[in-house]
Amino acid sequence: MSIATNLLAINKKLGKSTKLVAISKTKPVEMLMECYDAGQRIFGENKVQEMLDKQAAMPNDVQWHMVGHLQTNKVKYIAPFVSLIHSADSIKLIQEINKQGAKHHRIISCLLQIYIAKEETKFGLDIQEALDLLQSESFTQMQNIRVMGVMGMATNTENLKQVREEFQHLKQFSDTLKLKFASDIHPLHEISMGMSSDFEIAIEEGSTLVRVGSSIFGIR
Ligand SMILES: *Cc1c(COP(=O)(O)O)cnc(C)c1O
Repeated sequence: MSIATNLLAINKKLGKSTKLVAISKTKPVEMLMECYDAGQRIFGENKVQEMLDKQAAMPNDVQWHMVGHLQTNKVKYIAPFVSLIHSADSIKLIQEINKQGAKHHRIISCLLQIYIAKEETKFGLDIQEALDLLQSESFTQMQNIRVMGVMGMATNTENLKQVREEFQHLKQFSDTLKLKFASDIHPLHEISMGMSSDFEIAIEEGSTLVRVGSSIFGIR
């Protein structure tokens, strides 16, 4: 199957309220261009250097999303152009994103990465940490960061019932956050959940951004 065919098949399943982030990590620019030529504009990468190389090579109207763990000392490289950081997973990182936003005279959009999986994961905030962060004095002072919502990764399991429950959990948490904290500055309406193996379930459970790689570009 071609990239264009894959893209069309996925787009048909999206519905009105879900956008597709094409996860192009490890894939060459020629494949990204094939995807771009088929109409895709949002691309996601998980490594800073790879994103920089591809950003330089691709057309200017591509929106670049960072989906991988981001080291604090690398925020500065993507700060001038990144469209959404899905992986804001600590107060330290959020402070740095805000600082780099100020330096580049822009407001950088991000999602709070929440851990919903039952397996040990290194990165992400638990629900209490996310609540504490949004209420903290230092966060409310920040003027160059915009929290668009949350991101989560389900457990890597064949048990689709469990995956669905984890997505439901994130959706419920997102609803609570929106009710308590949504504002003009922090809309909190985005829910980034769903990858190649589970994006259909994620859409059913209210995902607004699915992050699909191998179903578009082939296995890595
Ligand atoms: C690689 C990756 C994806 C895409 O995974 P596929 O299974 O190839 O669709 C989604 N989200 C994150 C954070 C990733 O690192």
